[in-house]
Amino acid sequence: MSIKVFLFHRINPVIDPVWQPISPTHFEKIITHIKKKFEVIPLEETVLGNYKPVTSKKLCAITFDDGYKDFAEYAMPIIRKHKVPASVYVITDCVGGLPPWSYLFNHLLLNTNISAIEVDCEEIPDSLKKSSWKNVIEKITLIKQFSPVLKRISDEAKESIMDQVMRQTKDVELQKDLMLNWDDIRLLKNEGIEIGSHSGNHPALSNTLHLDSVKHELIRSGEEIKVATGKFPLAISYPFGIYNNEVKKIAKEVGYKMGLTVLPKPYAINDDHFEIPRIELYSEPFYKSKLRINGQLQAVKNIFSLEKSMHPNR
Ligand SMILES: [Zn+2]
Repeated sequence: MSIKVFLFHRINPVIDPVWQPISPTHFEKIITHIKKKFEVIPLEETVLGNYKPVTSKKLCAITFDDGYKDFAEYAMPIIRKHKVPASVYVITDCVGGLPPWSYLFNHLLLNTNISAIEVDCEEIPDSLKKSSWKNVIEKITLIKQFSPVLKRISDEAKESIMDQVMRQTKDVELQKDLMLNWDDIRLLKNEGIEIGSHSGNHPALSNTLHLDSVKHELIRSGEEIKVATGKFPLAISYPFGIYNNEVKKIAKEVGYKMGLTVLPKPYAINDDHFEIPRIELYSEPFYKSKLRINGQLQAVKNIFSLEKSMHPNR
């Protein structure tokens, strides 16, 4: 038995040049399509063997990372209407507060009126220490250069960079109502939404933290969810899908029952519970989402990469 686990982030009609949310219309088309093709099952309960599918259809599950408020505002009405189960993994430091650093960094740079920035940090390449831009395109290019670097430097260095960037972009208004708060989360839980952890402050767990800090990060976010909802979360969704064997071991030790990553393939139910792959869906033409859901997009990509490895000079 296998499950296709779909991963969403934001569902919102707004335009965002750095990271475009899926529009509610597109999301409803996706839900309608997957309901036709699959039985949508509650992920955690099915993996634990507590839920048995009721049809002979293929299985899929719906998950959301980060805990943006637009889940309650735009996704939830569609989820209610179509009566499908879903899970939401929250970044506990962001609940009722500012969005995660990965979003904030992009938002600050994109919306500031300054035209240059200086960052003092030994862990980043010299080319990123002093940057300037003439237009939005150049700013987006810079953001895209910074993003992978911020995911691999130490947590201390990242925090220092965020402080420096925030100090230099004081002209940008911070978005205070972008994330779910604990009342929202309790209401969602009462409606049957499974609440899981997506860490305390969204670090790339195996890249940027020492093992003690990984442990602290996984315990404190789980405990906060337990205090707010009465239940230690069953699942940890690794930020950016980044993990290694140590992270998996710690997650298990501190009480999680499963770990979720990001990889475009189905999950065979008896495979490692701490490496559950998820297929991310994006804002894109609907036919492309359909190919992604049906697995055809990945099949085509696999054929091309196989061809490339057979004919490396092409
Ligand atoms: Zn995330």
